[in-house]
Amino acid sequence: MGKRKKSSRKPAPSRQKVPLDTAFTCLFCHHDKSVTVRLDRKEGVAQLVCRVCDQRYQSKVNHLTEAIDIYSEWIDAADAAQREEHAPRRPAASTSSRPAPAPASVDSDDDDD
Ligand SMILES: [Zn+2]
Repeated sequence: MGKRKKSSRKPAPSRQKVPLDTAFTCLFCHHDKSVTVRLDRKEGVAQLVCRVCDQRYQSKVNHLTEAIDIYSEWIDAADAAQREEHAPRRPAASTSSRPAPAPASVDSDDDDD
């Protein structure tokens, strides 16, 4: 009797569905994956929070919004806020020193008396 070949089939690696990444790097403290986004589609709001430095951001969501959208919104918002901070508003009107008006010719009324 010969040996029977065992059919040892390797199970094909089933492709696991990787859940969408909802942990991101924080803009402020630069910790990796410290920022988490929670989407509440029922309420229509998203909460972004950094568990390290406690930065928070809130936005509205719709059925198409993903965590990454909230994250990029947050980046935009933080970017804009930072720009405003670094560029203080100056009055548009130029207040450059005007040359002093030339003195009016003195009407010398010399009375020779
Ligand atoms: Zn942070």
